[in-house]
Order: sequence, then C-alpha cells, then structure tokens
Amino acid sequence: MKTICSSSTRFAGQDFDLVKWRLIAGAVSACHFVLDYETDTLTFSQECLEIVALPSVEWTPVSSFSNVIFPDDLDVWLGALRRFESGQTPRLSCDFRLPAREGGYLWVRCTGEGLHLQNGKPLLLCGCVHNIAEELTAAAQGEMDNCAQSSRRPFLVDPLTGMPNRLSFYSDMKELMNQSIQSTIIIIDIKNFKNINDMYGHSLGDMMLTEFAALMRDKLPQLARLYRFGGDEFAAVWPWSRRAAVDKFAEEFLQISEQPLLVCGQRVRYFLSIGAACFPDDGRNVDELLKCADVALSKAKAKLWDGYSYFTIEDRNTYMQQLELDVLLHQSVENNFHGFQVFYQPIVGAKNRQCTGAEALLRWQTPDGIYIPPARVIPLLEKSGLISRVGLWVLETAVRQTSKWVHLNTDKTFLINVNLSAHQLLDRMLPERILTILDRFSLAPGNLSLEVTESSVINNMGEACEILQSLRNRGVRIALDDFGTGYSSLSHLQTLPIDEIKIDRSFLKGVADTGYNKSFVSTIVELAHSLQRVICAEGVEEQVQYQALRDLKVDKLQGYLFGRPTSLETFQKSFVPYYYAGNEGYVKDL
Ligand code: C2E
Ligand code: CA
Ligand code: CA
Repeated sequence: MKTICSSSTRFAGQDFDLVKWRLIAGAVSACHFVLDYETDTLTFSQECLEIVALPSVEWTPVSSFSNVIFPDDLDVWLGALRRFESGQTPRLSCDFRLPAREGGYLWVRCTGEGLHLQNGKPLLLCGCVHNIAEELTAAAQGEMDNCAQSSRRPFLVDPLTGMPNRLSFYSDMKELMNQSIQSTIIIIDIKNFKNINDMYGHSLGDMMLTEFAALMRDKLPQLARLYRFGGDEFAAVWPWSRRAAVDKFAEEFLQISEQPLLVCGQRVRYFLSIGAACFPDDGRNVDELLKCADVALSKAKAKLWDGYSYFTIEDRNTYMQQLELDVLLHQSVENNFHGFQVFYQPIVGAKNRQCTGAEALLRWQTPDGIYIPPARVIPLLEKSGLISRVGLWVLETAVRQTSKWVHLNTDKTFLINVNLSAHQLLDRMLPERILTILDRFSLAPGNLSLEVTESSVINNMGEACEILQSLRNRGVRIALDDFGTGYSSLSHLQTLPIDEIKIDRSFLKGVADTGYNKSFVSTIVELAHSLQRVICAEGVEEQVQYQALRDLKVDKLQGYLFGRPTSLETFQKSFVPYYYAGNEGYVKDL
C-alpha cells in the first residue's frame, strides 16, 4: 500500500500531487477521474462526458455518484472502493454501467491507483475510465455455443459454475432482439441461500450453486440457455417459447425443487422464486425486459415459500407508476430535496409520559402536492440507491433542528432518533459523515440515536457492526428497530453494538391480557435490562397498553397515544413550548 505522511505541497491553492497527477493522466488518457478523500469529491475529466451521460463532472459527497450507476452494478463499485479504502488492494479495477449518451446504459471499466495516509486512511484515488462496450460485443461473437469452455475470454463466464455470466446474457439477448426472435427471460433466485451459507458454510454454498445450476440446465429445454447473474441469481433465455410452455416448466421445476439437493452428503432444502417476462411484448431492450422480469420476480418472492410469476398488464401499470415516481424522486433530490420533509413523533418516558425525544420520519410530496406514504417511498429510494443521500439529508435536517432545541434549553438530554437504511451501512465513510454533521451543528453525539433493523445489519454483519461500533465509540447511540419481526434472534441483543431495543408494534396487540405477546415483551424487557439496554415500545395506541407496558418496566414509549408524527411547526408547538415561550424547559406533561 502506498502511504503518505501528510497532505503535500499546495499549488495555486490546489494539492500539487493532484495537479501533477491530473497532467499525467491527461497525457495518458483523456478520460480520467480523481477521488479526493479530503474534500470527499469525485471529479471526472470533461472528456468522460464524450462517452457517458453524467449530469455533472464533480460529485460531492462521493456517495452521490452512486445514484447514476446502474442499480444492479452498485455493489461492484462500492465493493471495489471499499477494498481500496481498507487497504485490501492498492488498485481499483471494476466494470459497471453508467448512463449512455444515446440512452440506456454503457459498460465502463474504472481502473486506478491511490495513496493512503500512514494511519491507513485513504487520501487520493486516481484512474481512468474506459468504454468496454465494444470489447464486450467483440468478445461475445463466436462465444454463443461454447462459452463455458472458453479460457480466452473469461469475463463472459462465471468462474464458479462455468455458466455464461450476465455480460454474456446481455450480448445474447441483443442478438436475439436484433433478429426479432420472440424470447422469454426467466429469472430464478434461491430465496434462502443466505441461510444455507450461514448454516453450512460458504464452500458448501458454492457447491450447492454448482449442483443447482447443473439441475436447472438439465431440466430446461435444449433451446434455452442458462446464465449465472451472480450470488444466487440465475437467468434463462428461451427463444421461440410460448407462455403455456414457460408456465409448465416453472411449475414442474418448482415441484422438483421440493426435493432437497444432495450436496457433499448434506440434504439441502431450498426455496425458489421465479419471474418471467417476454420479448417483444414486455420490453424492447434488454434493460427494460430485465426490469419487467424483476417486477415479476418480486411478486414471486412475496409468496411464502416457493413462488412463480409471469409479468402481466397490471404489473406494467404498477411498474410505470414506480418509474414515474422514481423520476420525480430523482428530480426532488437534485432540486435541493424539494418536496421532502422531516416529521417528528414524540418518544416519552414510561414513568411520567414526559417527552424525552423524538423520531425523525421522512415525508414526501410529488410536485402536484400528492402525498406518497413512506412505505412506498422508502423502498423506491432504496432500490435506486438514493436513500443514502436522502438518509443523510434527514439526519442533517433533524440534527440542525435538535441542536437549536438543545441549545435553547437547560436540560440537554433531548434524544433525536434517525433511521439508517441497509444501504447506508455499506458506506465505510458513514461515521465520518455523521460526525461531521454533528460537529457542524454543534450537537453532542449523545443526543443522536441511530435506528437500524436486524436485517439491515445481518446482511452485511462484519462491516455494519464495525461502522456502528465506531459511531458508538464516539458517543452516538444505536437502537435496534422493529425488534420481534424478521430474524429476531435473542443472541443479537447481546452481540450487536446497541444501546436500545425498540419492540415492534405488532407485539402490543393484546399486551394487556395474559398471552404470548405479554410474555414476549416481559422476557425481552428482562433480558434487555440484564444487558443494560434501554427498551422502548412502539405503536402504543391505547391507555391499557400504556399501563401494561409501564407495569412490565418498559423504559420508553412511542405511539399515537402520545402523539402522531407531525410537521416541525406542530411538533414544536406541542412538545417544545419553550421554543416559542422562552427558555423555560421543554418538558410537556401529556
Ligand atoms: P419505523 O422506523 O418503524 O417508524 C415508525 C412507524 O410507525 C412510523 O411510520 C410511524 O408513523 C408509525 N407509528 C408510530 N406510532 C404508531 C401507532 O401508534 N400506531 C400505528 N399504527 N403506527 C404508528 P411511518 O412514518 O409511515 O414510517 C414507516 C417506515 O418508513 C418507518 O418505520 C421506517 O422504516 C421508514 N422510514 C421513515 N423515515 C425514514 C428515513 O428517514 N430513513 C429510513 N431509512 N427509513 C425511514
Ligand atoms: Ca424507526
Ligand atoms: Ca420501528
């Protein structure tokens, strides 16, 4: 790893090394980029705009660049950056898609080299951007029949299964489309693959994928071709196929998959989700068609165990609405977050019902003033990767506001809770970003609590825990949200770096009666207290629930009984009266 002791000489206000590098890069390749970790800025040379349609050449913070990357490729870019930033690799090399000038997306390869400070922190990353679309198309020619055995062009073959990969899929589909051959694409996903990996280990997981690929290849009709997209996702392209034949294949294959796979003497039980869409009916280009198959796949995934779904007209309407909302959300973000708002819901102490803090909750309205509920907005933001920027905006807005409340009051303990999404936990720079915001608005880290769900941490356990622990070391509090839903592992209460547990509102139903929910809450409270964790119950709507939870020794409560999420104005009027009436203490008796 190259290291540097301190930032080098300045030249006309700029880092001399950077200036020098730009000159060299410019001489070698017109299309280059510079990522400056000191200013958290990613800059592309103007020449890059000749190959890709970037709305800007400068991206601050660097995470904002994620929004233009083709969503499926985002992990490739973030993974490569992470490996460089952690010093795992001295160089960066990754292929992903960016918006093409003529519409759609274009494959590019980013290669670069960088510098780290002596303390291991990344300082600078500089490199080139290459258009590899032509290279890929050329490589794909002649590969159609014999891709699996090809050693000359390994980037079209998945090394684990020997199947053609996603790039190969693109080039084959384009070929079929050029020849106007009616074809179905089928996407297959192993729903419980993560559990299989966790239960049996990664090497058995890899062997299972190979066995599964062989089984699927065997059962698909001769005409169809199978590809591995990565992870546990496979796709098949079936030229000249009829809907009835595809339905029959999917149903029969789901039946076959009811039998466990025998892998290294282990009988592995797996569940499949299958989604299908058809060219030309459902889409005229590969990306459009893949999106339709993805919509069908999401529907299939929503089924309890195995599931199959074929893209329909109703799906198209839902999809078009989502696309429209997606465009509007992007516009809102680019337009300085216009249309977004932060609402605040009070959190009260269980003993005296006094407001001790609030949860910041995102709200969004379309330019026509139509309010779209968070349950629709958040998944869309997550899918497009915009959640990282919007999440930080919520945090900044809430921190700025809380700082005003805390500084105006003698009691400095007001706690603002802000939600973090799984996407944000992929960003290694997150602790620094958050601490910078706290610093900018002079709010103590102890006034901020970050809410994470078990699933968002578990999907990326090692790194997510590192990020949370480093924030916790600096005094920021961490809360485990929606506890009791999803994984709900009691061992997580002990192992995850958390200060607080928020019991999901589904457990409040009947909590006042004797029954499962009461025992569940009582057990969690006992366990949490023995581990010195604070416990908060969400969704308190009735007086009897309040009394029961207080008797069960829950520490904090949140719910409509004490206050709904409201706009800043309303929240301040009801819960921060000193904000208007002088500095007399914000506590309000409810
Ligand atoms: P959450 O984090 O579990 O937030 C609490 C949700 O419960 C809020 O829904 C709140 O309005 C609702 N709630 C609170 N008390 C009661 C009650 O007594 N009864 C009922 N029926 N509901 C109650 P909301 O505001 O619709 O948000 C839904 C979800 O959207 C949140 O669930 C959170 O997962 C997500 N979300 C909201 N804002 C953000 C954000 O800024 N970032 C991220 N990543 N997610 C957010
Ligand atoms: Ca929450
Ligand atoms: Ca919650």
